[in-house]
Amino acid sequence: MPQKRYLFTPGPTPVPPQVLAVMGEPVVHHRGPDFKLEYEQCLARLKEVCRTEHDVLLLTASGTGAFESAVANLTVPGEKALVVSSGNFGERWAALVAAYGADLVHVRLPWGDAPEPDDLRPHLDGAKVVYLVHSETSTGVVADLEPLAAAAKEAGAIVVVDAVSSLGAVQLETDAWGIDVVVSGSQKALMAPPGLGIVTVSPAALAATGSSPRFYFDWRRTLEGQAKLDAPFTPAVSIVRALNVALGMILDEGLEAAFARHVRLGRACRQGIKAMGLELASPDDDRAAVVTTVRAPEGLDVKAFLLDLRDRLGVQLIGGQGEWSGAVFRIGHIGYFDLFDITTALAAVEDGLVAAGVEIERGAAVTAALRAFELPTPA
Ligand code: PLP
Repeated sequence: MPQKRYLFTPGPTPVPPQVLAVMGEPVVHHRGPDFKLEYEQCLARLKEVCRTEHDVLLLTASGTGAFESAVANLTVPGEKALVVSSGNFGERWAALVAAYGADLVHVRLPWGDAPEPDDLRPHLDGAKVVYLVHSETSTGVVADLEPLAAAAKEAGAIVVVDAVSSLGAVQLETDAWGIDVVVSGSQKALMAPPGLGIVTVSPAALAATGSSPRFYFDWRRTLEGQAKLDAPFTPAVSIVRALNVALGMILDEGLEAAFARHVRLGRACRQGIKAMGLELASPDDDRAAVVTTVRAPEGLDVKAFLLDLRDRLGVQLIGGQGEWSGAVFRIGHIGYFDLFDITTALAAVEDGLVAAGVEIERGAAVTAALRAFELPTPA
């Protein structure tokens, strides 16, 4: 039998069979009536998942492309923009904002910190745009976004949030929290293949668009196309159809139920890791429901360990990024995940560490995860 493959990374994530099935259907034309129906439904479902009344733009691009659209539309060279970072993705946004010629103020917190409103406040004066990261996938920290957005809003800034790995997994109230722009991607908690970028755009954000050169990523061009269900450029039609099915599944489960499931998955993963005697690098709290980041035991060659899991057991986890490279490994649990994905990941970690000669507590992780998940007991 060919080796079974398990994808336990924080993106791309496993795609449900119902979603994959649509990808196998013949390609449809994007200006035909069949596609328009699904396009319309997908855009409406995105609004529900993003919890916004405003427009949600669907771009054929990765999450970074969607984020670049925000920077391209909002930047006026020389105007002040604030980026708060405490990991790889925040740092990426600082580089991107600088590349567009903004007067960048980069509040660079230590990796793994959770940003607080007081980290922003001294730097807000005169900032036209504030860029925040909701779930910093490189560290596992999920920020308490509402007060951060409120502080930026109070100062009159346009608030842009990277929710690439949090949308659909962790509570995010775009309109109620006063967030102007939320950026996400199809390949994480939204359970679809990579290829689509998602951008919510408030009227204030639209009114604040600047003079930076742009064409493909010009928000108005896509807005006008979407209003007529006539995308300005050929969308990745099969992925749009797949995303539509995945969004339907998320809304059938219910967003609140999905958030609660992610909390329990995070608990199960953390308890399993600790039961093995390993140390967490991500916070040990319910908010950290996206990815569990584990400190590599001393002497472990993380790259070789992860390759062994992949080649010998078929289990794909992922290492650290940037300054945490070689020091951690990460287990993702967003989207199409259940308890037994977590126990499989934990069992693989245990086996791989033993194979690498690391002394750990054997046999405890799966039991701890089962307990922490709190399976409903039969009546
Ligand atoms: N922001 C966060 C928090 C992410 O996790 C990722 C992807 O890993 C990105 C941005 C970049 O998204 P993409 O790889 O789709 O460009």
